[in-house]
Amino acid sequence: KPRKLDCQIDPSIRPLIAPCSSPWIFRQCSRPESPPGPRPRIPAPSNPREPPTEPEAWDQIQQDVDTKIKPGLTHWQSPNFMAYYPASVTYPSILGEMYSAAFTAPAFNWLCSPACTELETIVMDWVAKALGLPECFLSTSENLGGGVIQNSASDAIATIMVAARERRVRELVLAEGLEEGTNEYDERKMDLQPRLVAIASDQTHSSAAKGALIAGTRFRSVKTGLEENMEMTAARLREVLEKCDKDGLTPYHLTMTFGTTNTCSVDRFAEIKAVLQEKPAWQRIWVHVDAAYAGASLVADEWQYITKDFAEGVDSFNMNMHKWLLVNFDASVLFIRNRLDLTNALDITPAYLRNPYSDMGTVIDYRNWSISLGRRFRALKIWFVMRSYGLNGMKAHIRKTIGLGNIFADLVRGRADLFEIVTKPGFCLTVFRIKGPTPNSTNGAVVKDEVADGITKKIYELINSRGEIFITSTVIDGVYVIRVVSANPMAEEKYVRNAFDIIVRTTEEVLQQK
Ligand code: PLP
Repeated sequence: KPRKLDCQIDPSIRPLIAPCSSPWIFRQCSRPESPPGPRPRIPAPSNPREPPTEPEAWDQIQQDVDTKIKPGLTHWQSPNFMAYYPASVTYPSILGEMYSAAFTAPAFNWLCSPACTELETIVMDWVAKALGLPECFLSTSENLGGGVIQNSASDAIATIMVAARERRVRELVLAEGLEEGTNEYDERKMDLQPRLVAIASDQTHSSAAKGALIAGTRFRSVKTGLEENMEMTAARLREVLEKCDKDGLTPYHLTMTFGTTNTCSVDRFAEIKAVLQEKPAWQRIWVHVDAAYAGASLVADEWQYITKDFAEGVDSFNMNMHKWLLVNFDASVLFIRNRLDLTNALDITPAYLRNPYSDMGTVIDYRNWSISLGRRFRALKIWFVMRSYGLNGMKAHIRKTIGLGNIFADLVRGRADLFEIVTKPGFCLTVFRIKGPTPNSTNGAVVKDEVADGITKKIYELINSRGEIFITSTVIDGVYVIRVVSANPMAEEKYVRNAFDIIVRTTEEVLQQK
């Protein structure tokens, strides 16, 4: 396929969002006209293909940002952005990012910049406490838990899969009586590794399958269905585990999701953990909770009953503050019950990285908790945001946006003549489809309906092509659906109501044409 090399984006997929009322950096966005039909093409970019030989004036560069870059940006901070999941930005987090850039101290070791490491440790404990995570995930816990900032949820998941692989293979090889460090040990380890299987539901983010690929292991998925609200259940998981046993494979990692990407469903933690107790080999599976988006809700006390379940039987947990928790991209946090699982797998120390503090083991070297060596000073922006908002400000943001999600879901329910809610709305997300002319449901349950699929797709595409709001669609259990989520810091009720009016108007227009 030909690649687009510059910032010219096909107008049909470029959402032009309005209005932008932010006082700081978004004021340059202008309200687009939204005529029906194809949008005019953006003039061809005049970016030279060769790099400049001589220095250019800053004024010219700045001007090009306005004329060549901004037209090609999707305005994730607009209150009319209701697609994917939000990517928050707030003023304190921008300042944190700027300080971090100004300091530029790639602190891979404690020694490289003690403040970077120590602030990260303190701030990760703050985040763990803010989310109501059990004591075992704190840096001060007796079990050697702790948190670390990763580049993204995908990095966090791939990293812990490597750690989980190393832990499981080591157990298996030692159980055969081989001695670590010998050739026989290494050979046997390499024999066993390809028999390992990472498991996750078919709704788990694709980063789980990618993590298994990076870890050099297999991946199997657990089926979910609309009748179970797309949640992973114990019964379906047991089927996969038993099949692995039958095939002579060793499950070593399980991802449970708190807020899946498609529909924000929540896997059935308690019953899944009970299944894992059924066989000794299943008890050895590394259990990870991916809460990349919905994890932010845990700052609100009413959600923290969920994390009580993590005190036992959960090895690691990740969430992205940069989605819904007011910190700009990237701020992906990973908590682990036993940091030695990470450091045993990832600590490789050549002479040039040795120093007395690391050798004594009295300091944390986060390079051994993640794949990259050099690390950005991301704790700073989290620190700025948590101090500027306080826990109460963070809770208020979550509660306000959950309230907006409930308003939208109620509006959709109120037009049962046009719409059908497909999965349980939650965490600001509503997933619905347009009813076909002859609605095809059994006892209120949503079933496959190709006519409804076609109409829903048409309405979704028309709405996005007009550029007043930006939403996303997906397919779940064979049903084509629209997803609307409004939760960035600029979200407000009037925008949610306006979005609903646009969806109703477009739906009526399309249905009239039928
Ligand atoms: N997990 C879930 C549940 C997600 O929704 C996403 C992204 O939307 C990810 C993981 C991947 O996040 P990242 O972009 O930080 O890798």
